Amino acid sequence: MRRLLFKNLVRRSVTEPRPDPGDAALAELAGQLDRAARRVLGHSLAIREVDAGSCNGCELEIHALSNAFYDLERFGLRFVASPRHADVLLVTGPIAKNMREALLRTYNATPDPKWVVAVGDCAIDGGTFAESYAVEGGVSRIVPVDLHIRGCPPTPEQLLKGLIALLEQ
Ligand code: SF4
Repeated sequence: MRRLLFKNLVRRSVTEPRPDPGDAALAELAGQLDRAARRVLGHSLAIREVDAGSCNGCELEIHALSNAFYDLERFGLRFVASPRHADVLLVTGPIAKNMREALLRTYNATPDPKWVVAVGDCAIDGGTFAESYAVEGGVSRIVPVDLHIRGCPPTPEQLLKGLIALLEQ
């Protein structure tokens, strides 16, 4: 016990260093997204995230967009609690059968114009869960998808690039 305590006292941190808060590339991407959203929608982008059976790896990256590392709310990117306030649905996971109805209801509750973005390899075709009896096998089997963002999971930068491409298409 004493040895373990001593080891932990002298051990260096195992966490990754935080990104440079002045990361110019990231700030440029976020600023670009905000400008595109204001041009197309007249306001900043409102996103409703729907976890439809993911392993939560994709959620960790999506949440990273608004955590203290990236803090993209400073550029107007907003996650909203209700689909009635959303412009974009970010959907993750292979669509578990028991999330099918919830996804459909969320889609129907989102006002037009709206976009659906399938995030992560699972959301495209079921990914690593494709063979499971419990999944539908991709977002496009339930609701129309406007954009797929590949990755397992995609990084925050890939998410931003995907959202910019969506608004500029
Ligand atoms: S794409 Fe990868 S990280 Fe995302 S839900 Fe599927 S297995 Fe998890």
